[in-house]
Amino acid sequence: MSREREEKTIRAMIAIYCEDCHQTRGELCPDCTALSEYAQARLGKCPWGENKPVCADCTIHCYRPAMREEIRKVMRHAGPKMLLRHPVLALDHLLRERKPAPARPARNASTNADQANEHPDADDNLPLPGSHLRD
Ligand SMILES: [Zn+2]
Repeated sequence: MSREREEKTIRAMIAIYCEDCHQTRGELCPDCTALSEYAQARLGKCPWGENKPVCADCTIHCYRPAMREEIRKVMRHAGPKMLLRHPVLALDHLLRERKPAPARPARNASTNADQANEHPDADDNLPLPGSHLRD
C-alpha cells in the first residue's frame, strides 16, 4: 500500500471517529485535526517506507503515548466501519494485516531522534575468528 493510501486511510478513520464521537460534520474538531496532523507527520517519517506494516503490527511504535492512545480509540471505533464506507482502503489494510511485519526497516540515512528502540547491530561485521590469519 502506498503512503498516499495510508494517509487517506488514517484521514478517513479520524473523520468517521470525529463525526460519530464528537458530532462534527465534514470538518474535524480541533483535537482530531491535531491528531490527524500528527499522524500524517509520523507517517511521513516512517522508516519502513513502502514496506510499512499496519501501525498496529509495527515494531517501532513511533507515536507518543498520548497520541497512541488516541489513534487506538480511532481505529477501534472506525475500523469496523471502514469496510462499509471505504471498502477498498479497508480491504487493503486487512490484507496487509495478515502479512507479518518484516524484521526491520531497510536502513536509510534518515535520522529519527525519538526512535529509542532501534539497536545498531554492532557485531554484524566482525571477521570470523582466525579468518585473517590464513593468508
Ligand atoms: Zn473530533
